[in-house]
Amino acid sequence: MTITISHHRQILAYSVQKRPIEGVFFGPQTSVRLNTLFIGVFHGDEGNSADLLSRLITHFQAGQFAGEAIDFEQRPVLVIPVLNPDGLVAKTRVNANHVDLNRNYPTPDWQVDNENTPYYSGPSPASEPETRLVMSLIETYQPQKIITVHCPYRVINFDGPAQPLAEAMAVSSGYPVVASIGYPTPGSFGTYAGVERHIPVVTLELPPNPDDVPDPELPPAESLDQNWQSNRMSLDDAIRF
Ligand SMILES: [Zn+2]
Repeated sequence: MTITISHHRQILAYSVQKRPIEGVFFGPQTSVRLNTLFIGVFHGDEGNSADLLSRLITHFQAGQFAGEAIDFEQRPVLVIPVLNPDGLVAKTRVNANHVDLNRNYPTPDWQVDNENTPYYSGPSPASEPETRLVMSLIETYQPQKIITVHCPYRVINFDGPAQPLAEAMAVSSGYPVVASIGYPTPGSFGTYAGVERHIPVVTLELPPNPDDVPDPELPPAESLDQNWQSNRMSLDDAIRF
């Protein structure tokens, strides 16, 4: 039996260097409340997150699921594989304005910080078009939960009321669930959406990219295939949760 999956690809906004930031909607095409919003490549040097979410899109388009089929009419989903296309092309953590997109949200703890480092918070809160896109998507689509994909720690981190979701996702992948990444992150997306807006936010941290220089302090890199095999059920489970 072939299931027809209603979906459409859309340019949501443009980056600093005018590259399109694309998303694929699954389910109703009018602006309804999203069940789940997935975002990859906040950081341009975390290309394995784009691969994982691109595979998710391909499988959903083909009507393929890990476990029970997902009814996108009841559970609308938006997948954005690459939030930071300029950083992905340049292979930099930061965007084209040298800003860390995970330090640029208008949270009370935001400050001009880490200038001339890969953790630069930007000249002002929400100074970057990529940040403003995510803020407007939250405003428009009121997602019930948000999964962002990063690397290289191979853990499932969460912000806001997301511990049960994080634990549900960890069942199939076996990644450790951790409440904090272990260092302060002022202006972070997790604080903005999870802590302040009480949206369950899960940060899925993949292992290092396969072509990263090996670092003895990090888990070993895994292939893109291995990332997919480890997490495909977990991503589907996040929507069904
Ligand atoms: Zn990251």
